[in-house]
Amino acid sequence: MDKNFQGEQFTGIIKFTPPLYKQRYQFIKDLVGKYKPKKVADLGCADCTLLWMLKFCSCIEVLAGLDVCASVMKEKMHRLSPLPGDYLQPAERSLTVTLHHGSVAHKDPCMLGFDLVTCIELIEHLEQSELKKFPEVVFGFMAPSIVVISTPNSEFNPLLPGVTLFRHPDHKFEWNQAQFQSWALENARRYDYSVEFTGVGHPPTGMENVGFCSQIGVFVRKYPQTSESAQSEKPTEAAYKMVFKAVYPSLKDEKYLQNAVVSEVTFTAQIIKQSLDCLMSERKEYNDDPTERKRKFQPSRNCFSEDLKKLVVEKSMEPFVNGNVVYIPLTTIFACPKVNRLCGTFEKLRRLIAGKVTLSSDGSAVMFNTEHENEEN
Ligand code: SAH
Repeated sequence: MDKNFQGEQFTGIIKFTPPLYKQRYQFIKDLVGKYKPKKVADLGCADCTLLWMLKFCSCIEVLAGLDVCASVMKEKMHRLSPLPGDYLQPAERSLTVTLHHGSVAHKDPCMLGFDLVTCIELIEHLEQSELKKFPEVVFGFMAPSIVVISTPNSEFNPLLPGVTLFRHPDHKFEWNQAQFQSWALENARRYDYSVEFTGVGHPPTGMENVGFCSQIGVFVRKYPQTSESAQSEKPTEAAYKMVFKAVYPSLKDEKYLQNAVVSEVTFTAQIIKQSLDCLMSERKEYNDDPTERKRKFQPSRNCFSEDLKKLVVEKSMEPFVNGNVVYIPLTTIFACPKVNRLCGTFEKLRRLIAGKVTLSSDGSAVMFNTEHENEEN
């Protein structure tokens, strides 16, 4: 028996593990892992659970939700706001999340330029007139690289307890596999997409021809999107109302990058200074014999990382002490992997820390005054 399915198929007691809705969301997460889209829109996003799961996918920079029911979207939309931790440690990627109130039967320019558009258990909620407009809006107008559409497979219904006509009172129809596939193939052909069929919620052993409980079509656009084709004849008038917007703190924003660099530089300088203290005491211990000192430089002393240790023992980069002041060359700090990755260039490091970190008069080293350091002790 399939691992996602537990049940006694002929008595109608069927239970999916994990629950079917989670399997649908996981299917989307796996697809995001495979295609790494930057911009993802979820149409018929309801209480935004899928969007909330997707905000943790680090490839995504723009997330948008659309639903015709504003109240259901607003119920838990606070989950899409940044958390204190997002401010304390801003991510490298940028992330903007927006929610829009409107119908998939209407075009709005805010839905242009997406890589992936998901429609999970949406189409069966559409009235005939809306379903007719849906392909032109999604495939013709939004025209993302990938569209995923999931919908109930009516052939599975006899296996579900308590389902007489439809699985949900708001469903306007439920299609069997042939109906969904012919609708999907027709629209794929018309809008130049390829489509593959799959699903989640396996049928019981021996009843494979029933198909998946949720049938899924994955549409991939055949033609490349040029900026011209993206913009040509697209209306600029808004049809949706934005009900939520969150811009996450990101290191792409100079303000957060500067904070991160200043604290990393300060932290690194402190560590190097500590390692310098260790060095000085070791020098005494080994009569300032550098070979012996390098040999005996043990990480177990726990006062600095391996990387920093290597830098500090490099003669050219060695920090130095003058009276009560310790100088740590910026070149040493820049050579630290994290500082290097954050800044990219030495010039950028200098620019970002200017006025925020105490530097030597020629600007080449971070300065620490140790005069009052041990006063508390
Ligand atoms: N995708 C969600 C919700 C599915 S229920 C999930 O997988 O759990 C279908 C959702 O589509 C509902 O929230 C409903 O309000 C929304 N919906 C119905 N008609 C719509 C339309 N014309 N445009 C946009 N959303 C619509």
